[in-house]
Amino acid sequence: MCSGPGSGRLDRRPDTRRAPREDGTVTTEQLPGTAPLATTPATPAEVAPADAAPAEAVPAEAAPAEPVPAEPAAAGHVAVGLPEPGEQLRLLHVHAHPDDESSKGAASSAKYVAEGLSVTVVSCTGGEAGSILNAAMDRPEVVANLAAVRRAEMAEAARVLGVDHVWLGFVDSGLPEGDPKPELPAGCFALVPLEESTRALVEVLRRVRPHVVTTYDESGGYPHPDHIRCHEVSVAAFDAVGDPARFPDAGPAWQPAKLYYHRSFSRSRIMRLHEAVEARGLPSPYTDRIKEWLEKAEAEGEPIVLDTDAQLTTRVPAADYFAVRDRALIAHATQIDPLSGWFSVPLDVQAEAWPTEDFELARSLVATTLPEHDLFAGLRPEGTA
Ligand SMILES: [Zn+2]
Repeated sequence: MCSGPGSGRLDRRPDTRRAPREDGTVTTEQLPGTAPLATTPATPAEVAPADAAPAEAVPAEAAPAEPVPAEPAAAGHVAVGLPEPGEQLRLLHVHAHPDDESSKGAASSAKYVAEGLSVTVVSCTGGEAGSILNAAMDRPEVVANLAAVRRAEMAEAARVLGVDHVWLGFVDSGLPEGDPKPELPAGCFALVPLEESTRALVEVLRRVRPHVVTTYDESGGYPHPDHIRCHEVSVAAFDAVGDPARFPDAGPAWQPAKLYYHRSFSRSRIMRLHEAVEARGLPSPYTDRIKEWLEKAEAEGEPIVLDTDAQLTTRVPAADYFAVRDRALIAHATQIDPLSGWFSVPLDVQAEAWPTEDFELARSLVATTLPEHDLFAGLRPEGTA
């Protein structure tokens, strides 16, 4: 694995503290103020296949501090853009569709805004292909004006979160479903040449000049072609934006210091929330999903691995803003049913069981130390908000 420009992931020492143990159990870093994660649902035998040792709760180990050196700037690029003392720190999220900014990283966005930082959300597409997922909004006048309705929803969500918002201007590719899957519509975001979409994002980055950028990992987080393209364009723009020779008419070069991937839907978090609601005697919205994991693990003869734990490098305490996150989500009325599982875990249970929003540090041009609890770790000089 290399750490130079163009690599998709931060180069760091092999992470043993969260790796599956030989006995099939999984260790998990303990969050401040929370109980160790019990890595099993109620019935341990269901977690591991019959021929594997049953998973069990393991005491959390204190995570050792892990220094991460700064990735060197690429040849010919401008120096990394560091904040001056007293300068406002700037965060920019690149998302695929309107509503993604409210389901991933929204509470930390609201928290950083409340602290006086600048947060910008870029929506690569207009979300034109999204289905109406809230029966109460499935009305002819909404269907007929879906693009305009979604723009108004996005404006309201941005207002709730306190973020600046930019449309990148590409057209939603839609989620192809069926067997065989239909072809993507001509001209959609996933089919636009990468150079073209990269240029559009570089222009925004050079205008906003963020210190930190977030996006999705290579998988997109889930297999929507726009989410995968969102990753590709974000990484390509992160590599190009600091090079004055690339897109010279798109503004003066600027090099953000860090790139993160969202890790809001880790298995560890889902498992912990599932256990927490069951412990309260409440119905869990995750039962079916965990059952699927169990069945897949059983079929493959492998124990469930809380696989994304190895990628939770950065946990931002954000529980005080979970209610704001939910209000932003509800603003996307065509996409979110307020009676759905999104909102069925009480906020106090969430705050107690998993009080953070989580990210993976993918690239860093400044030195930092893992684990982090702030996207701006290594970037806050004395006196900077
Ligand atoms: Zn999306």
